[in-house]
Amino acid sequence: MDTSPPYTRRADFGARVLVVDDDAIARRSLRAMLERGHYLVETAGSGAEALVILPTYRPELVLLDILMPGMDGLEACRQIRATPGGELLPIIFLTADERAETHADAFRAKGDDFLRKPVFPTELIVRIRSLMRLKRLQAEIQAERDALIDSQKQREQLFEFIVHDLKNPLATIQLGMDLLSDRSDNAPSLQHQLLRIRETAQSMGRMVQNILDIGRAEQMGLEVRRTRLLLRDWIPSLLHEVEYRAQRMNQKMAWECPPELEIDADQDLLRRVLLNLLDNALKYSPSGSQTLLEAGSADGGVFFRVSDQGQGIPEHMREVIFDKFIRLEDEGAKTRSSSGLGLTFCQVVTEAHGGRIWVEENQPKGSVFIVEIPRFNQPATGVFP
Ligand code: ADP
Repeated sequence: MDTSPPYTRRADFGARVLVVDDDAIARRSLRAMLERGHYLVETAGSGAEALVILPTYRPELVLLDILMPGMDGLEACRQIRATPGGELLPIIFLTADERAETHADAFRAKGDDFLRKPVFPTELIVRIRSLMRLKRLQAEIQAERDALIDSQKQREQLFEFIVHDLKNPLATIQLGMDLLSDRSDNAPSLQHQLLRIRETAQSMGRMVQNILDIGRAEQMGLEVRRTRLLLRDWIPSLLHEVEYRAQRMNQKMAWECPPELEIDADQDLLRRVLLNLLDNALKYSPSGSQTLLEAGSADGGVFFRVSDQGQGIPEHMREVIFDKFIRLEDEGAKTRSSSGLGLTFCQVVTEAHGGRIWVEENQPKGSVFIVEIPRFNQPATGVFP
């Protein structure tokens, strides 16, 4: 019984090679060597002729002499690279020119390898084989990378569709909870449950909206509709939205703002930025702590500072914490609803207003998130970027 392994052909067996050389003797000799190595061969006497043959012969490798009258090998190589599919075609230069500049020119023209003339058969075949293998692997990696990018795009689209479809049912739940919790005949225990459900629905609604807005901002920029806000009047209504939550978590909220301070900003976006920051301050601080929201004039703008007495953010995480999906894991993390998108949204909105956001350490403990937004003098509607 024959136990020898099944016969397999080399992957480059019968591969099409185009030999480009103005010297007929060199062409003949290269053809002979290549045919002995089981390659299919076509020849061209000049760079121009090679470019004509290229689309019909579709070589899998090109051997290209550098010194040729008319279009030299370097120019032919540049032109081959510019043709469709020419970018990954293996090209080996042939030359008797030993100068370093010639080698440098050859690689600048995007050749893959270099063979000195006169060419030795074994070296020729070994170089061709290893270059073709390399190119095959490169093409496989590229194809896998393209497929990955494609499937990533599809996943993102699907994710966006799902999130978008969550919006309407969530809005219905929120509205229903608003109506139910506004009734005066609710028993205290029922009222407590209703407010908790309403709060959870609000927080989910914010999360859904953040995801949609971040996606939209990445694709086409975020639309910023500026109106003038008198902050002293506006901030209490904002705090009202997290008041119940703070009470339930046994935390205090305080605020400070100079009487006449105004800003031209997108009211809804700014509201959601500050709510995200206040929400986080509550979420990541223990019972009994206090969160302070301050607003004031900064150099040419307005600042908002949200200071908490929570677990703080380690120094090495203070920049990356604004990237998508970044979360600091701790033992309480599993019990919290957390997406790692809230701060990304805050950054997107702040930057859409031409401002910046960063985090510092609070003393003696906790974090201070600072948002600085330029203060415009006239109400305006703008689109970012
Ligand atoms: P989420 O809170 O949904 O996880 P964010 O983008 O708002 O998403 O926050 C990202 C991470 O930053 C959080 O998971 C948390 O680890 C950390 N973080 C945010 N705000 C605070 C804060 N005030 N104190 C401590 N850690 C915080």
